[in-house]
Amino acid sequence: MKDKKKSPIQLMVILTIVLIVLIVSLVVLNNKKENTEGVQTFDQAPSIEGQPTLGDSDAPVTVVEFGDFKCPSCKAWGESVYPQLVKDYVDTGKVKFSFINVLFHGEESERASLAAEAVYQQSPEDYWTFHKALFSEQPEDHSAEWVTIDKMLEVAETIPTIDGNQLESSMQSEEIAEKVQRDAALVEEFNVELTPTIMINNKMVEDPFDYEKIKSVIEEALEEN
Ligand code: CA
Repeated sequence: MKDKKKSPIQLMVILTIVLIVLIVSLVVLNNKKENTEGVQTFDQAPSIEGQPTLGDSDAPVTVVEFGDFKCPSCKAWGESVYPQLVKDYVDTGKVKFSFINVLFHGEESERASLAAEAVYQQSPEDYWTFHKALFSEQPEDHSAEWVTIDKMLEVAETIPTIDGNQLESSMQSEEIAEKVQRDAALVEEFNVELTPTIMINNKMVEDPFDYEKIKSVIEEALEEN
């Protein structure tokens, strides 16, 4: 019988390899840890195909807001974090930004989403003007009903390229309803429970108002790119 015991040199080699593997995996794990706190990582980013998108379509990082026109926090986010994000990252070509409708406030959320999708269909370049105008119509008492057809048409009227009659009819079309449903499916897919929910590529930040966190996740995504 041959002696199957390993020689001391073989053992040393094996131990060294094991040690190197351990060190490398620790380093990798440590790097990955950097932005796990306050962040939920998904297998993939939400698809923004067919979604209104602000900024350079070739921008390396994608930020998605899951938002609701009826949600007061979304209005606040749009007035505080969003302008900073646009200035620092969208205007500089590093980030493209998409908005996905969430219907947490029922019929009014849905009506506002239908109007916004219809505007986007009619005149994609005017979408963000309408988006902003709609949020600025949100009253202080956000529980008050304000998202009526008349209000949607009134806001749309401030945009010269939008045809009110066409807007009203497309808000009732199957095509626009499908776009709102596609957004609802994304809300479900990413288990969105709060609005606004902000995702940077495949990472969801826990606190949408923590701009420092958002920045660090964007910077990390830019480095990975
Ligand atoms: Ca949409």
